[in-house]
Amino acid sequence: MINERYREDRERRRLGSLSAFSGPTHSGKTKKLEAEAERAQRQGRRSQRLHGPADANQLLDQLDPAAELVTIDDAQRYDDRLVEILNDLATIHRVDVVVAGWELDYTGQPAGPLPELMCSADFALKLDDGVCAQPGCRNLASRTQRFHAANGTPERFLPVCRRHHTPDARAVSFQEVWFDEPSGSLDLISGCMFSGKTQELIRRLDQARFAGSTIQAFKPALDDRYALEAVASHREVRFPAIAVPDVAALQDQLRDDTRVVGIDEAQFFGPDIVSLVAELADRGRHVIVAGLDLDFLARPFGPMPLLAAYADRLTKLQASCQYPGCGSRQASRTQRLLDGEPAPPDSPLVVIGGAATYEARCRHHHRIGVHARPEPVSIVEESAEL
Ligand SMILES: [Zn+2]
Ligand SMILES: [Zn+2]
Repeated sequence: MINERYREDRERRRLGSLSAFSGPTHSGKTKKLEAEAERAQRQGRRSQRLHGPADANQLLDQLDPAAELVTIDDAQRYDDRLVEILNDLATIHRVDVVVAGWELDYTGQPAGPLPELMCSADFALKLDDGVCAQPGCRNLASRTQRFHAANGTPERFLPVCRRHHTPDARAVSFQEVWFDEPSGSLDLISGCMFSGKTQELIRRLDQARFAGSTIQAFKPALDDRYALEAVASHREVRFPAIAVPDVAALQDQLRDDTRVVGIDEAQFFGPDIVSLVAELADRGRHVIVAGLDLDFLARPFGPMPLLAAYADRLTKLQASCQYPGCGSRQASRTQRLLDGEPAPPDSPLVVIGGAATYEARCRHHHRIGVHARPEPVSIVEESAEL
């Protein structure tokens, strides 16, 4: 009887979440996935591994209705429809979903649903603790290098760092590659509002400053929330920054001797931010980018999926859900409220003025308004969000 009540109670409290593990070959994604399934088993939760058809819709036909944890490996084989299907599994069916796969193919191009999944997930981990396979290199491996089959050795894939990766397959033996510039990196800090992204960015920029690096920080000019010429968090922590209207202006302002580049609110920049930061990292700069990974409708925000794919390190932060009585510390969504009500889907992506307020919400308390209403127009210079 008690057992039965316990089971009912557990069923009632079941929440459902989405976790994504990405990284190059041999980075331990599958091991991580299996560890999650084993932990569920130890806790007496039923887990199921979905695999087989390359059509994401057919995956669900195999679903065991009693499954509390579902794992999907090699998710790069599916198309973008997987993102919506897994979000529904987590939000509506309250299943814990764990997915693993490549975010970049061996040519170094973002491929499959992983870049968007890393934005939509409540937890995203980029497995970057492997070291580059190039002898003597100590950089983190974030790319998959393909090696030709030769002399009876079959085709192979090995993890390499960003500077030792070539889009074309290489000979089986490593070649000596000469680089004129020191090695760089791309770090991404992502999450919903109030998850502490800007504070984390400032913490890393401060570290670089104490280490004596030459630093420049940037942010999009439309964000005039607290200060015009500073990166500023909600808690008034600041770092001097240059406000730029677009990516071209950012590039113009970059000095040759800058080693560390910080960029806040990256979701507001156009798609050309992706190639700029990738090139800066390839040419020896340490680039640290922070941004909102989902917009107020929980859709991947602008360049964020591609930035997540190209990043060498990803730090995804969560906030506490501000829905009354929830208390979940797994908030991964940004709720826009207009006069205290959830904003409808036809409300503009970017609102400038004091009309909208924002809250951090978990996936179960994130709401999209149903009734379209005229957007209040305000020119009060108070906040600029989303
Ligand atoms: Zn390397
Ligand atoms: Zn909540």
